[in-house]
Amino acid sequence: MTATPCPCGSTLVLADCCGCYHAGALPETAEALMRSRYSAYVLGLIDYLIATTLPAQQSGLDRAAMAQWSAQSRWLGLNVEEHQALGGTPERARVTFVARWQDASGEHSHRECSDFVRANGRWYFVDPTVTLKAGRNDPCPCGSGQKFKKCCAALL
Ligand SMILES: [Zn+2]
Ligand SMILES: [Zn+2]
Repeated sequence: MTATPCPCGSTLVLADCCGCYHAGALPETAEALMRSRYSAYVLGLIDYLIATTLPAQQSGLDRAAMAQWSAQSRWLGLNVEEHQALGGTPERARVTFVARWQDASGEHSHRECSDFVRANGRWYFVDPTVTLKAGRNDPCPCGSGQKFKKCCAALL
């Protein structure tokens, strides 16, 4: 296992790269979390994908669909293009990347911007397909302590 190259495309072996996050270490940057989520798709670690999505969105995720997508795709690679702070706060970040995979319908290459928020010291992926329910002036469901409108509402 120690000699397995990390699927995220770093030059490190899995155990020294995304593997430590899958085992419970906390990624220090949104990019590290994003890479570890790509690797989790490659490795079929659906629990990890769910646990690293914004807690307020976790119940809205389609676990079966995620597992199916993970299993039925042959993952071809990841390129992280840009990692930037978002909204002038270190608690939010946007990562631009290109992921490549192959499934029954052929080869795909998608360039995406994913948004991440850090709450209570942990980075979370903000899933743009899952609605968040909160009043604009309510505390944000991500647990950041900010008002929803100033926090994740601005990301969705
Ligand atoms: Zn990695
Ligand atoms: Zn938030």
